[in-house]
Amino acid sequence: MATRHNAALAREPENEQLTAILRLLILLLLPALAGAESLPLPIGQTQIMPGPYMYVWQDPSGQASFADVRALPDSAWQAVARRDASFGYGGSAYWLRLDVHNPHSRSLGWVLLVGNPLLDQLDAYGLDGERIYRAGDQRPFDWRWVEHRQLVLPLQVDTGEQRRIWLRMQTDGSANLSASLMTREAFDHQEQRSLLLQGLFFGALIAMLIYNLTIFCITRDRNYFWYSLFVASFSLYQFIQLGFALQWLWPDALTWHQLSFPLSSALATLFGIQFTYGVLELDKAARPYRWTTHILKACAWLVLGMALFGPYTPALIGSFALVVACAVAAFVITLLRWRSGYAAARLFALGWFVLIAASLASILSGTGVLPYSLLTLHAQQIGGLIEMTVFSIALAARIRQAQEAERLAQAKLIEQERRLRSEQAKHLALQTQISESLEQRVQERTATLQDTLQQLSSANLRLAELNRRDGLTGLFNRQTLSEELARACARAERSRQSLAILMMDLDHFKQVNDRYGHLAGDACLRHAAERIQQRLRSSDLLARFGGEEFVALLDNTDHTGALDLAEQLREDIARNPCLYQQHSIPLSLSIGLHAGVPHDPSCGEHWLELADRALYRAKAGGRNQVVSYEANAFDGA
Ligand code: GH3
Ligand code: MG
Ligand code: MG
Repeated sequence: MATRHNAALAREPENEQLTAILRLLILLLLPALAGAESLPLPIGQTQIMPGPYMYVWQDPSGQASFADVRALPDSAWQAVARRDASFGYGGSAYWLRLDVHNPHSRSLGWVLLVGNPLLDQLDAYGLDGERIYRAGDQRPFDWRWVEHRQLVLPLQVDTGEQRRIWLRMQTDGSANLSASLMTREAFDHQEQRSLLLQGLFFGALIAMLIYNLTIFCITRDRNYFWYSLFVASFSLYQFIQLGFALQWLWPDALTWHQLSFPLSSALATLFGIQFTYGVLELDKAARPYRWTTHILKACAWLVLGMALFGPYTPALIGSFALVVACAVAAFVITLLRWRSGYAAARLFALGWFVLIAASLASILSGTGVLPYSLLTLHAQQIGGLIEMTVFSIALAARIRQAQEAERLAQAKLIEQERRLRSEQAKHLALQTQISESLEQRVQERTATLQDTLQQLSSANLRLAELNRRDGLTGLFNRQTLSEELARACARAERSRQSLAILMMDLDHFKQVNDRYGHLAGDACLRHAAERIQQRLRSSDLLARFGGEEFVALLDNTDHTGALDLAEQLREDIARNPCLYQQHSIPLSLSIGLHAGVPHDPSCGEHWLELADRALYRAKAGGRNQVVSYEANAFDGA
């Protein structure tokens, strides 16, 4: 229709005014009625999507030349109708035809901006005489007429001029022209605003990257590392998609540039999966969660491989499908985790929701379902930024959660320690109590034992003493006499001192028993013993030698002293009868004596015998007398 109209205009060039009026009418009415006509170039800051004014011819082989295309009949061309001139994936070459005119009274510089920096090839004819514009991301960057991340086609149209522009685009990616027309001023203005926004966007991403890497370095929590890689690869993806990468990073590395796009997308997805897996602690979750994650991860690796080594288009489509699948899966899994009581998942769910919504808005706006606006144009960027911010907050919240958990654990530990300590104290007290009572008992036992031992030893002493004594008279017994005699003999021999022995026997004692009875006899024995003892010194020893015989051992006593004492004893017994009941029993004592300095330390028994011999003499001499052993007299007798 547009072509027919132009032909009509050409047939009537003479009627200028009518032509102008008609043209104005047609310009105003026809596009509204038919949807595609010559596009009046805008003035001011208006931006026009020229899609509805365009016609397209598809060249599947991609071989047609400009001359071929120019020669095509009108019927071969189809109206684009869509605002963004999008033809999906397929690899065909698309020829687009656009008629524009300048309805304004002055010549203006316009710009046709192709907002898809990833188009492989874009050729433009009719922009500047015969000069052909050749650009695209599979052509060196410096071929571009305007050094810009997007494809900027300058267009100068004079007042009232009608111009036809042909565009040829061919790409392995999305054949989406995303073209808009605007004045140079409008373009400059938008460019400044856009660069500011992009700067803010990437600045925020870099800040987030540095922040999370720092937190990773401090906490060594791997989730921050995965998240940092996620942010980094997402940033790279955006940097490539927006055309910055080719402009600033690798203007001539065309092959790498081509594969870098699906590669960065797949990397971002892979790190996103890894991060989600870690942060939602899916390793502790039910099996379906883990399986889903592993399958998605395997897919991410597959897409990575395809991006590096495989054909471009399937890799690109695969990477998009993967992003959608992962975003949806992550959203669902996060929601399920949240519902199953994992509180930290709430913020993550929000983040995924924003990302999905933004991607959806971006896709819907790209296909023209949503009205074009700055918001929809940058939906994915804005969504990505919000999502990343939410994730950062969620990660920070996770730190808080971990701190809280640690605080609780610590409190529990302290409580446990306190309980343990109190148990220990109780135990210790019990132990002390036990050992104290044990010690007390041991002390008591020891005291008792010592007491018993003392009693035993004193009993032993008493027993030993009793053993030394005679039961009836309490005098030393014969055994003790023998021991003491041996000691006294040795002592006297050593010190050259005189020793005396008195052997004493009560006279006719048998008759006492016979007359007064044995009890009277015993009393007489005690009486005699007491009387003799009274006259002895403490150093002397008196023993009961036999039935009614006594021996006195006189230390340091010579013969005269001994004789004197013996006489006193004899007299004392004779003068003091034993009083027993109503009887006064007269007693007399015969004494044999031996005294002198012993020459032999073991003279004891022998001297006793000598004293006994003297006693025998006293008995024989009539009793009640003292006889001293004189060696000459005895030996001679
Ligand atoms: P002599 O003058 O020759 O010594 O005559 P005697 O009777 O004293 O001597 P003899 O050896 O014939 O008798 C000793 C008596 O001493 C015999 C015994 O009845 C008495 N006698 C010995 N030991 C005890 C004793 O422990 N208690 C009493 N009551 N009499 C005793
Ligand atoms: Mg006698
Ligand atoms: Mg006798």
